[in-house]
Amino acid sequence: MKNGNLFIISAPSGTGKTTILKRVIAELKNIVFSVSHTTRSPRLGEEKDVDYFFVDKSTFVTMQEQGLFLEWAEVHGNLYGTCSNTVQAITEQGIDIILDIDVQGARQLMDKLNNKGVFVFISPPSLHELEKRLVNRGTESDSVIATRLNNAHDEMKSLEYYDYVIVNDRVDQAIDELKSIIIAERSRKRRGISGEPLNLDI
Ligand code: ADP
Ligand code: 5GP
Repeated sequence: MKNGNLFIISAPSGTGKTTILKRVIAELKNIVFSVSHTTRSPRLGEEKDVDYFFVDKSTFVTMQEQGLFLEWAEVHGNLYGTCSNTVQAITEQGIDIILDIDVQGARQLMDKLNNKGVFVFISPPSLHELEKRLVNRGTESDSVIATRLNNAHDEMKSLEYYDYVIVNDRVDQAIDELKSIIIAERSRKRRGISGEPLNLDI
């Protein structure tokens, strides 16, 4: 993992992370989304191999036993994991990558990456608003929403371990904040606003 930045983003389910990430990736250059493997079923509107690589449990476990995952975790009753090879292939080209992973996966990478990752937590304005967003999204059953809300309370406790925290109250502002963080981190690595290496003629 030589060049590109690794942004690790976590948020309780329903916070608006996917909404924010899609816009940020569309609006910035040289940054891509890390497509995870999951045993969860696709939601309406989700595209196979774009939103996730949807696999069955035995495929996931075999991959995990073969050591293919940079990190993996069981989240809300399903397995999710990030492939090491994909992350490496992208960052080696000098392209930034965003990992949308849960707090357990992020904690694994905080230990493993030796300060090489930038950790961002996106928080809902309140748990009440989070519930409203999950219900309005309408993609999960009541019992799945209840599990996700229950877990949200615990996930919020991990916020203190992250480098940055963004509250997604107004979505446009949250998008601006995340873009600012990405641009600032590029600058720290002597890269321009579009992620290109600085070419200083001095
Ligand atoms: P996540 O990926 O964190 O689970 P989503 O991006 O799917 O969340 O967003 C959950 C729901 O909340 C969606 O219906 C989305 O349109 C809505 N949403 C996202 N951000 C906001 C916001 N700032 N205010 C109100 N609703 C929002
Ligand atoms: P969802 O089912 O709503 O897409 O995702 C549920 C949770 O799983 C979210 O917190 C999301 O960030 C997390 N997640 C998605 N991909 C991965 C992954 O590869 N690893 C880990 N640890 N969590 C993931």
